[in-house]
Amino acid sequence: MEISLTIGIYTIREGRLFTINTIGKVYKALTKHILVGCFLQASLALADDGEDALIITRTVIVRSERIPKKLFRFFIELEGMYRNIVEQLVIHAAREEITSFIKLKALKYREMRNLYPHLPSHYVHTACQDASTRVKSFLKLKKEGSTNKEYPSVRRISIWLDDHLWKLDGLMRIGISTHKGWVHIDLIPHKQFYRYYNTGWRLASEARIKLDRKERRLIVYLIFRKDVRLYKPSGYIAVDVNENNVAVLINRKAYLLETNIERVTLGYYYRRKRIQEKYDKICGVKCRAKRKILRKLREEERKEDTRWKIANIIVREALKHGYGVVLEDLGDKPATNMISRIKDDQLRHRIFQAAFKGIQRAIEEKAKEHGVPVIYINPKNTSKQCPIHRVEIRYNGSRIGVCSLGKEKWHRDVVACYNLLFKALGGDGSIAPSHPGLNLDGSPMPLGSTAAHDLTGIPRSLWARLKSLDMREHQAILKISRDKRRDSI
Ligand SMILES: [Zn+2]
Repeated sequence: MEISLTIGIYTIREGRLFTINTIGKVYKALTKHILVGCFLQASLALADDGEDALIITRTVIVRSERIPKKLFRFFIELEGMYRNIVEQLVIHAAREEITSFIKLKALKYREMRNLYPHLPSHYVHTACQDASTRVKSFLKLKKEGSTNKEYPSVRRISIWLDDHLWKLDGLMRIGISTHKGWVHIDLIPHKQFYRYYNTGWRLASEARIKLDRKERRLIVYLIFRKDVRLYKPSGYIAVDVNENNVAVLINRKAYLLETNIERVTLGYYYRRKRIQEKYDKICGVKCRAKRKILRKLREEERKEDTRWKIANIIVREALKHGYGVVLEDLGDKPATNMISRIKDDQLRHRIFQAAFKGIQRAIEEKAKEHGVPVIYINPKNTSKQCPIHRVEIRYNGSRIGVCSLGKEKWHRDVVACYNLLFKALGGDGSIAPSHPGLNLDGSPMPLGSTAAHDLTGIPRSLWARLKSLDMREHQAILKISRDKRRDSI
């Protein structure tokens, strides 16, 4: 355990701000500078054994019941004051390039406090945090040259609350400290909220609220945290995300979960583009009708659904076996085997990388939540080399290739999984003397001589309903769905 403590003061001299945190400087400062604030920073670091421990955060959105007009007006006033404070802070911080919340608070707290003496003082505190976060990302954009504005505009506002400004009364009510005293509002909790509340997550002391003016409701963003310890895996599940499926290798059994990312992503891409072009012509770029129609596509929602379902299946399998998950480190690797319909290579690349990374992120998040370790492996050559003979596999334009030495057949996506797994088990995999997991006694172990290995392809309609990938448990389901299909023909 390591504890570090920093005590320091902020001073102004000749209009410039100084931070001082050594005793010698402090003495000098007291004679020449004007003292404007002080700070105390403490940090606590766990020793090495805490390396595999992490804290994960989730935001849960809860809406309130409808609020009477008179009461809702308080919140509109509150939002107005909060917005004004944030705007002023943002302008100042952006001009002076202040990204530190402590610094900003030291400089502006008094002034802002005097602006709204009836407002609970902690709003100034949270507004400083809000503003410094905004300025931080703004200055980053400016550095990249993505904006030439002088300071960021404050458009959307959510009011940040700290532990002095809100509390839950039971599970159905929230109390919020305002300029008119404490106001209590009924909430509409939902299943997801209860699930977090009852399963070892702790509610964070900070929260945010947004006003829904149309419906006269509060939208409350509650933050849940959880400490997780990653377990030591006894093996790995290799996962390779492709254009049309997610290949999963568990104990030498390969599953192809059909996703149709290619079709879905491109489909949405073209539909979105058509709508944008059409409406940009009629009513300009910033047009409400267009946004409404784009929202109706529900593109993100549908993609989200696929992502989380895939993540759930994989993490559930990992937990069952006590395994970790191996993923491709996508980095900036150009996506291969792309479709020729989109001409612009870069665009094509971007579209797919985003989709692949989205799935990987979902897997990683789910995994973390359950303490399942995830490792990323450099995917170089993972689909080109035979996992047994370490020679090239020839594909001839198909996804099934033939090993140039052993002549056995391989499915491209499964090859990738095996190679990812071997790299994960044998360090970089380049000089691993024997490939862990495969025996080289001559029998092409996981690979039948006729078909490409032990491979189960599962259509989306089926895997989306599965709780496990163990197909023995699902013979019945498979049979039923086959029967159904026969019936419908
Ligand atoms: Zn081979």
